[in-house]
Amino acid sequence: MPLELEDLGYSGFFAASREELGLEDYAVARVIAEYKGAYRVKSPAGEYLAEITGKQIFRALEREDYPAVGDWVAVTHLDAERAVINGVLQRKSLLKRKYSDRSEAQVIATNIDAAFIVASMDRDYNLNRLERYMAIVRDGGIVPIVVLNKIDLISALELDSRVSRTARRFGDIEIVATSATAGGGIDALAGGILGGNTYCFLGSSGVGKSSLINRLLEGEAIRTDAISNRTGKGRHTTTGRGMYFLAGGGIVIDNPGMREVGMTDADAGIEDVFAGITELSARCRFKDCTHMHEPGCAVREALSRGELDEEAFANYTRLKKEAEYYEMSSLEKRDKDRQLAKYVKKAKKQLKEFGP
Ligand code: GDP
Ligand code: ZN
Repeated sequence: MPLELEDLGYSGFFAASREELGLEDYAVARVIAEYKGAYRVKSPAGEYLAEITGKQIFRALEREDYPAVGDWVAVTHLDAERAVINGVLQRKSLLKRKYSDRSEAQVIATNIDAAFIVASMDRDYNLNRLERYMAIVRDGGIVPIVVLNKIDLISALELDSRVSRTARRFGDIEIVATSATAGGGIDALAGGILGGNTYCFLGSSGVGKSSLINRLLEGEAIRTDAISNRTGKGRHTTTGRGMYFLAGGGIVIDNPGMREVGMTDADAGIEDVFAGITELSARCRFKDCTHMHEPGCAVREALSRGELDEEAFANYTRLKKEAEYYEMSSLEKRDKDRQLAKYVKKAKKQLKEFGP
């Protein structure tokens, strides 16, 4: 079955904009990936590496005017592999990341109909954080859908209470409860995805976004690069992830920029530090190096060379301790709390004995 523009998300809205902008004489394609200075665009005719014309650059006043992933663009095909972008059709919605120290926001993706905001039921459940995502999504003109994932880790009673707390806080909003690993709620999730509509998954790292997308893609789905292979329009290695087309007709945008949505600059900094330390620790002499006093520790070496910030490392150590405490079994925690209580009691007694 040949691919139609509608399969890629095209609709009357874009047709109207195409007419309004006088771009009917051009072919249209959707931006599925963004590279430095170039774009990968997709149309029923195939996939093309596209650049914007000089005129377009001249007219672009702000960063936001440049094409972004999800955009519908008017193109001229140069050959079987390359195209030129002549204009960007009006956007239905805009997902942005704001920086506190920059006046301009970064466009992550456009023309998303609904965003699944994923929270994990083990540790991540935080209504304030959900609210942050909700604000970004609603600001951009996107419909938010809350996904409570990892429900296999909590009781049905606990789930009930969290669903009602979420509903109370956010009012009339769709809430889906899922387990990406056990498979619960996946049908409900897939059922909410409409053909020709575009979706994205947002949420902190580790909440299960990739697992949920993989679940939706299971078996029947076709990846962007697979489609281009099938239509025989040359083999393009789509750089990792980008845009997925589900068998049921829905489209999922998932690119690295998505991970930065909703993150504060401080969060982003910590994630960078974590990634850096993880990379460094691969070079520590001992596999279970704590980076405190072991010989041949790559992390301490980086610290002494000033390549790793002392304060950032201290922050990392503190967060790691917190995470470890969190991951301790309740029995261990009780033990630790008992020890602490004993210690406090002893200290108090000593104070009394030696006090004034
Ligand atoms: P992402 O960073 O949001 O993309 O999260 P991932 O999909 O990579 O998942 C992070 C971890 O959580 C992985 O180890 C998954 O196997 C696990 N995970 C994802 N979904 C579930 C779930 O529903 N239940 C449980 N118990 N674990 C899950
Ligand atoms: Zn080390």
